[in-house]
Amino acid sequence: MLTSDQYGQLLAAIAVITRQCHSPQDLLTTAEGQLAQLVGQAVDVRVSPQERDGPVVRCSATSALDAQSQELLELFTVHFRCLLVQAQYCERLVTEALRDPLTGLLNRRAFERDLNGALDGAVPSTLVILDIRQFKRINDTFGHFAGDAVLREFTRRVSGAMRSYDAIGRYGGEEFLVVLPGCDDLCTASQAERMRVSVSQDPMMIDDQLHPLTASFGAVCFRPEMNVTAEALIRIADDALYQAKRQGRNQTVVSPCKVYEMPLAAG
Ligand code: GH3
Ligand code: MG
Ligand code: MG
Repeated sequence: MLTSDQYGQLLAAIAVITRQCHSPQDLLTTAEGQLAQLVGQAVDVRVSPQERDGPVVRCSATSALDAQSQELLELFTVHFRCLLVQAQYCERLVTEALRDPLTGLLNRRAFERDLNGALDGAVPSTLVILDIRQFKRINDTFGHFAGDAVLREFTRRVSGAMRSYDAIGRYGGEEFLVVLPGCDDLCTASQAERMRVSVSQDPMMIDDQLHPLTASFGAVCFRPEMNVTAEALIRIADDALYQAKRQGRNQTVVSPCKVYEMPLAAG
């Protein structure tokens, strides 16, 4: 039987984990330290891969525990498992709300939030819109699974050519958006070229046939003082994209920075 002091210690340990941990990984790291304090020796916390009835948690001390410490460990394990299930559930919901399931990229909602962050930032940046060439024909010729594979391969090629702090999202269908923080016109041209070459330099194998993979790019540079909305920027980048398509595709058009002609944000 536990004393009221021991119950207090147990609740305090659970409270620390609840307050400090925001992800399943945080929970695991913190649990071992809290348990060690509770039972007075090192404890190994293991979580088996997700099973149908949720995760299985095993907490084991390095040597035999007295009856009260063993009871503390078992009660802690029950509470900890509840917290872990909640954290895993939240993490899944956040991923599903913000990520495109096919490519794993930010979805349009999440990307627009990042873009608004870039608009509030202190550095000039660039928005690029990318459009895969004749994608519908790939679907129509090889089927939608092949189309899906092309979208994933395109994502891999573009992501591989981006800098670690650039952001990419799937805008919809075969159109993608990229933000290049700190880029002026010159840097935009070279970064877009890196992405374009990465996409198009090798054909892609689809159904045992080599198929060219290319895209058109429309870009616009913006500076914080422009007070422009995300929606207006996307429209300007989209116009540049259509110009790239009209000029023969597989190329980049950078819209000139027209600071005072940009539509102003409300307020
Ligand atoms: P353009 O060169 O003018 O950009 O034409 P396009 O064929 O590349 O693009 P279009 O807008 O005509 O067709 C896009 C197609 O993408 C239509 C839609 O069915 C398909 N699509 C949208 N989302 C997905 C997806 O997640 N997977 C697959 N396989 N196809 C998709
Ligand atoms: Mg399109
Ligand atoms: Mg297209």
